[in-house]
Amino acid sequence: MPGSAPREFSRWLTFDNELVPAAATSLNLNIRGIGSSATLAINEESNCLRAEGRIVYRLGLGQSPFPVPETVVESLRANAHQKSYLAVRGLPALREAVADYHRRRRQHFECTANDVLIGPGSKELMFLLQLCYYGDLVIPTPSWVSYAPQAHILGRHVRWLRTDAANHWRLTASELDALCRDDPDRPRLVILNYPSNPSGITYLPDQLEELAQVAGRYGVVLCSDEIYGELHHQGRHVSIARYYPTGTIISSGLSKWCGAGGWRLGTMTFPPGQRRLLDAMASVASETFTSTSSPIQYAAVTAFLPHPSIERYLVQARRILAALGLECARRLREAGVRVHDPEGGFYLFPDFEPHREALRARGVETSSGLCQQLLHEAGVAVLPGSAFGRPQDELGARLAYVDFDGASALVAAESVPLDRPLPVQFLEDHCGPVLRAIRLLKEWLSP
Ligand code: PLP
Repeated sequence: MPGSAPREFSRWLTFDNELVPAAATSLNLNIRGIGSSATLAINEESNCLRAEGRIVYRLGLGQSPFPVPETVVESLRANAHQKSYLAVRGLPALREAVADYHRRRRQHFECTANDVLIGPGSKELMFLLQLCYYGDLVIPTPSWVSYAPQAHILGRHVRWLRTDAANHWRLTASELDALCRDDPDRPRLVILNYPSNPSGITYLPDQLEELAQVAGRYGVVLCSDEIYGELHHQGRHVSIARYYPTGTIISSGLSKWCGAGGWRLGTMTFPPGQRRLLDAMASVASETFTSTSSPIQYAAVTAFLPHPSIERYLVQARRILAALGLECARRLREAGVRVHDPEGGFYLFPDFEPHREALRARGVETSSGLCQQLLHEAGVAVLPGSAFGRPQDELGARLAYVDFDGASALVAAESVPLDRPLPVQFLEDHCGPVLRAIRLLKEWLSP
């Protein structure tokens, strides 16, 4: 104990290189050493560089470039006066609209408003799900940045399932089967996310069917994270709930397809057999966030009901993302980077392995080293593959091709007939910052 330390403290700990009384630092063991989410950290670092006057291309944060559809904004305006707490599970009209949406999309044929839970973002609902369901978390690598940290916070065991680039980072039924076969009765929560963050890849119906068969055989609870479902580039998203209706929880929300990440509204739709889980999550919600913002819930009713202008918005958003994603992937491959064409959402998961020797000569040996140098030397922000559960020494990164003015791109896309692809010149004119960032990245790779 340091000489100057007051006598009344008997236990001392080192915290951030300083000696402090143990009582003042008694953090839950599960969260000691946990940093802020990788996505938010890169955003803060980019902001610091920008504050120093540097130009930074933001391909790190996965935020929709498009505005919230005008009809949904109008609905929010009209409901700004809604001030009361709403039911914990969500506004009945919204739960009905979400159930109707899933029935229309032929995802959960039988679901009703009683099967739906509304929360302040699907991230929060995922956390409640992991809190209430007692079992291992099973996720493929790569997977979205927050699943594993949430499991760690709760002291849950995480089992990573191998995938590989040759198979487009898709989880196979045989990998899932091999893991479950080991201990068939163990309770497991499997999270499957597609179109995928980080890879931009989705699954074909027969691949989903095979996975569903394995999930059903072992009775796993399957959380299908379909937050990018509406951004399937061909508008052909299929939910695995079609093939495993008794065990699939569909997770979705307004953040990605509706451009409303900051509105914080997520949904989960449960199979009838998981009512106890839904009830438990609602109980915890009642003791924590109480209910989701009222005006946002009223506006969300409009977003989930069928509306021609929202359909049109989605057609154009998918078209822009599809063309831009393909063009970015093509240019990256031209620079010797390995990357798959994206199929949905707005991400690419490039692998810089072919440049390993040249990068090593510049001191880059890990995915986070790669991202740090790329940000500081070229002004391009992307996220390291390690944040998605890949090994540190793999040279992978996640690139979000969203740094452009989505509002003006949507308007401009209207002048290109739908039966014609958007030309590269359209992308240069309306998605310029993303293509400039790809150019800088290529120059950085081959200086
Ligand atoms: N799931 C995936 C795969 C995501 O990429 C995100 C956000 O980036 C979320 C869930 C959480 O979305 P929200 O909490 O905004 O609904």
